Amino acid sequence: MAGEPMIELVGFDADDTLWRSQDYFDDAQAQFEAVISRYVDLADAHLHDCMLATERRNISLFGYGVKGMVLSMIETAVAITNERISGGDIHRLVALGKAILQQPVELLPGIRDAVQAVAAQHPLVLITKGDLFHQEAKVCASGLSALFHRIEIVSEKDPSTYARVLAECGVAAAAFVMVGNSLRSDIAPVLALGGYGVHVPYHRTWALEAEADLGEDVSRMRTVTEPVHIAAAIRGFSG
Ligand SMILES: [Mg+2]
Repeated sequence: MAGEPMIELVGFDADDTLWRSQDYFDDAQAQFEAVISRYVDLADAHLHDCMLATERRNISLFGYGVKGMVLSMIETAVAITNERISGGDIHRLVALGKAILQQPVELLPGIRDAVQAVAAQHPLVLITKGDLFHQEAKVCASGLSALFHRIEIVSEKDPSTYARVLAECGVAAAAFVMVGNSLRSDIAPVLALGGYGVHVPYHRTWALEAEADLGEDVSRMRTVTEPVHIAAAIRGFSG
């Protein structure tokens, strides 16, 4: 019947949708601030704003992920301390990044059952961005990879990336649902293509991920507070 979509493919985001991620970045940011506080007054130096501005400038060069974060930390630290930061402290910043890369994968509560419930109804594709090695390692360690028909580690999650993935899968946007925690990366670009979104907010969101323009397409989006509700939200799109 016209107006009732038939969902053919469901995409899942990974970081902060399947497993914890932003908490580790926030912890690293706190330790970064502790290192820099030995050189400058943090409030006077606007450290948080400076770091965010550096990351924003660097995304097109470094892409997303831990390695880019560390390079942006070093660049910010050198600038904000007027080049006084010590080699030892630069080493500490590198260690912050390595610690994140070596974190065990911790699935979010209820997500394994939730993904299995959706996988019983639809083929799944995992679509995630970040450092290639890191994302591959997390997918492998998660124990969830067998539930996904495809795993796409992409450099940006914008409409053209989703259009490419959907074309490769032979699925129209109107038959696709994306599930994720980021309105900017997981929901808005898919709505813009004519697809559907299930937003599962995480308690922490990186400032650069919080900037989203959903347009007027929110009728094709649902927000659920717990993974257990994802499958029902997807069924709801089919009328
Ligand atoms: Mg995410």
